[in-house]
Amino acid sequence: MTDDQWLDVQTAVAHDPHDERHEGAVTKPIYQNSLFTFRSYDDFLSAMQNETDRSVYSRGTNPTVRELERRLARIERGEEARCFASGMAAISSAILSVVRSGDHIVCVNEAYGPAKEFMGSYLKKYRIDTTFVEGSSLEQIESAIRDNTTLLYLESPTSMLFQVQDLRAAAQLARSKGIATIIDNTWATPCYQNPLEFGFDLVVHSLTKYVSGHSDALGGAVIGSRERMKALVKNEYMLLGGIMTPATASLMMRGLRTLPLRMEKLHGQGLEVARWLEAHALVSRVNHPGLPSHPQHELAMRQMKGCGSLFSFETELPLDVMRRWAERLKYFRIGVSWGGYESLVTVNPKSSYRPGAQETLVRLYVGLENHGELIADLEQAFDRIAFST
Ligand SMILES: *Cc1c(COP(=O)(O)O)cnc(C)c1O
Repeated sequence: MTDDQWLDVQTAVAHDPHDERHEGAVTKPIYQNSLFTFRSYDDFLSAMQNETDRSVYSRGTNPTVRELERRLARIERGEEARCFASGMAAISSAILSVVRSGDHIVCVNEAYGPAKEFMGSYLKKYRIDTTFVEGSSLEQIESAIRDNTTLLYLESPTSMLFQVQDLRAAAQLARSKGIATIIDNTWATPCYQNPLEFGFDLVVHSLTKYVSGHSDALGGAVIGSRERMKALVKNEYMLLGGIMTPATASLMMRGLRTLPLRMEKLHGQGLEVARWLEAHALVSRVNHPGLPSHPQHELAMRQMKGCGSLFSFETELPLDVMRRWAERLKYFRIGVSWGGYESLVTVNPKSSYRPGAQETLVRLYVGLENHGELIADLEQAFDRIAFST
């Protein structure tokens, strides 16, 4: 992403042209309606012919949702976006738009859990097989490809170990073999990484995280070329019907207004906290692609303009000790998800992510609280471990 593109993102989310149709209303009104009516039968019939562009019924096209989709397409540098009721609705629809019964998928082995389950277990009933590979190795991706492989599914960085894939090379490889590519870009957001520019076919997002930004709404998006999106809109979007409501689209649009601002702040304070942890005696490793110690730091910084503030650290302290440690935190609250204003923590057996490992993997989401206080909070919880052992 160039500096000009970054400026375009800032303007795209902050500026709306004067809206004559709605008496100059400064935000897009919520079209809280399921259907739209017509004065003439001819107009009705012509709208029905073009239901994916004209407002006929809100499972197809709703003006509030369309406004969000236009903005997302612009900042992700794609031609067309569609919004869904959740990230998983977007992900499952995008995958189903690509694969057929008997196909094979290659997926990065540390993709978002439910996405892995969808590909690795659920799609088996349609005789679709998935091979999970170590995404940091292009050779592993290449050697997993079979004659019937039709989809390469990536997520970079992954959201527990924060491993990075070489997106330009992976997209090129897939394209040379006629394989479609989908990437989950939730962590970096359209502010910091634009995979369509590397040659990806479809980008998926959980808007529940950074775009919503306030932990008060669920949503997802699929973004790609008009060509790629056409069948998806007609089939998975309209037929599975997992659409976003206009009220949610309005909340998402509000979150989007401050996305670049929040990302700049969170990039900085996520790194501050990560650096502090890296220097701590009880921490054996910090998994954050923005740290020079990350094995793929250079690649990460080549393909991303900045970082999200979700990362993990590893410690040799046992799981139960670290779970008590998490309970002593005042600002980091125990809970799933991330991307809101509030800092969060989960404490996991490391063996779930690094097979055979004994130790503990702590995932932190750094929110918008003052980072000095967040660090002091982590420190007091560590001090009490040292004291009690
Ligand atoms: C949360 C999440 C999802 C799923 O999004 P939902 O809105 O919860 O369905 C997908 N990918 C990543 C990386 C996520 O963090």
